[in-house]
Amino acid sequence: MSEVSTASLKSLIGLSPEALKAALILAGVPEKSVRMRASQLWNWIYVHGAKDFAAMSNLAKDFRKLLEDNFTLTRPEVMTAQLSSDGTRKWLLRTGPGIEFETVYIPEADRGTLCVSSQVGCTLTCRFCHTGTQKLVRNLTPDEILGQIMLAKDTLEDWPSTAPGRKVTNIVMMGMGEPLYNFDNVKAALAIAMDGDAIALSKRRVTLSTAGVVPMIPRAGDEIGSSLAISLHAVRDEIRDVIVPINKKYPLEQLLEACRTYPGASNARRITFEYVMLKGVNDSLAEARELVQLIKGIPAKINLIPFNPWPGAPYECSDWEQIEKFAEIVNRAGYASPVRTSRGRDIMAACGQLKSESVKVSAAARAAREAGPVDPREQPKAASLSEPPRQEATAMEKIQSSQLARMPQ
Ligand code: SAH
Repeated sequence: MSEVSTASLKSLIGLSPEALKAALILAGVPEKSVRMRASQLWNWIYVHGAKDFAAMSNLAKDFRKLLEDNFTLTRPEVMTAQLSSDGTRKWLLRTGPGIEFETVYIPEADRGTLCVSSQVGCTLTCRFCHTGTQKLVRNLTPDEILGQIMLAKDTLEDWPSTAPGRKVTNIVMMGMGEPLYNFDNVKAALAIAMDGDAIALSKRRVTLSTAGVVPMIPRAGDEIGSSLAISLHAVRDEIRDVIVPINKKYPLEQLLEACRTYPGASNARRITFEYVMLKGVNDSLAEARELVQLIKGIPAKINLIPFNPWPGAPYECSDWEQIEKFAEIVNRAGYASPVRTSRGRDIMAACGQLKSESVKVSAAARAAREAGPVDPREQPKAASLSEPPRQEATAMEKIQSSQLARMPQ
């Protein structure tokens, strides 16, 4: 068959050093040279961002041939790439039939943050989150999670990883999905992102955000060791039960206890509490005071996020004056509480606006699709995502953008 193509080749991206060595041995690399070969590859793949084996100029020809015959370094396929007027970029990526997910890059004066997805869809049904309206299709693999970082760095010409003035300086696991429901794969990918001999981001610059999967929080601290963000959004169980329904399973008291004991939390490494400002729902000044009481004793900062609307969302963003008053109470209690400016709203790239059109299909239906001639570009559905948000969202965004314009930076 002429189409032995890259699809049948194993990706080397996302393999641990041990798994990489094992894969090389299986492909016929002699045991005595496997350590050296693996470390050469590690450097080419993650420091230099090599996209193919031909680029690996210091490797012997026959070794490169062996690599080409067995492995691939392919990135996810770009379905759409959008650039916001504020410099924010959003990619819709695809790695197989129905496996589509989004990644967002947010450049700022002193940093560049990449917002990475951990799942296609989500099992959580947070009421204010657009991704929450999309059922879980599946967990992303380490290859697909890291692939988002590699693809962004390719586009931004951000190789080698060790160069000064890097463009991707921070990673936040705040794209689609709940990272603690895809623990092993997120752990494997972040280990490489934080490895000093690979993508080399410091642990402080990698943040995992969770809606509150309490039993996994200590493991995240022990085994991943990144910074932690909690999507808190409410200070009373009655309200949190409604807007972040996982709260019914793991209520506030348990969540805050897990934060109090989070391994590695300190004044130098604070836990971030995210709090989306929903008009008339969670934004009273009494709640601001309760918030500071609730997190007492936890080294914390609070991110107040103006609600980002999406078509059909059941909430509105709090009024700007209310956000300011709320922030003042939190600030006076000694917490840094930057109001997170919304970025990339014009391309639906802001917090909670991500959603792909992937739907869960039965294994049989997927097999049938895969068997057929699959040219991803023939699938019309992806194109629809590049359309601007519907009218009502646009109007809402205009109002909110003018509110944001008044915001002190
Ligand atoms: N499941 C994880 C990772 C997603 S992070 C978590 O919940 O933390 C996405 C962040 O954006 C979360 O803090 C989420 O609560 C917030 N968010 C979701 N929808 C939003 C919206 N419409 N406006 C503003 N923030 C939103």
